[in-house]
Amino acid sequence: MMNVPMSDRLSDFRVTGTMVNYYFVCQRKLWLFTHDVQMEHESDLVKQGRLIDETSYPEKRHNVQIQNTISLDFLDIKDGVIHEVKKSDAMEEAHFWQVRYYIYFLKQIGITGTRGEIDYPKLKQRKTVFLSEQDEKELEQIIANIRQVKCSEEMPGTIHKRFCRKCAYFEFCWT
Ligand code: SF4
Repeated sequence: MMNVPMSDRLSDFRVTGTMVNYYFVCQRKLWLFTHDVQMEHESDLVKQGRLIDETSYPEKRHNVQIQNTISLDFLDIKDGVIHEVKKSDAMEEAHFWQVRYYIYFLKQIGITGTRGEIDYPKLKQRKTVFLSEQDEKELEQIIANIRQVKCSEEMPGTIHKRFCRKCAYFEFCWT
């Protein structure tokens, strides 16, 4: 898997799955993340999410890094299934696009025929994710937009959402 050369389309930038996720959650969060603004202490919710991620499905391969760009929660190589583990389905659209991006990225480096599964262990739910041609076109635009955010010197404004309280940047934005 690691010896497949990266396509020209992906060679000049590194968009991670987290960036695609944040693109749908909050442009300001994406900007802060892409400008390497790190919060000193991760929130309890972030720690909780990581714990669920690390302790779920112990029989599978965890945290599979691909070409130093995407990081899969775990990968079922035999069935070609990319698994993404999430704590809640509150940001489901962002989760779906994150996993579609993983399928897209793998396709760009020659790994085809994969599908995604988003696992919500606390909800005992699993959602299947496929990548359509239309999704691919949308992802190309999304990737271009993420690059623009990354290059922008201007930080987007705050959004007023209930989930801000759970965001790692809450203190930065609101205190
Ligand atoms: S606290 Fe709210 S406005 Fe600030 S980065 Fe997080 S989601 Fe965006």
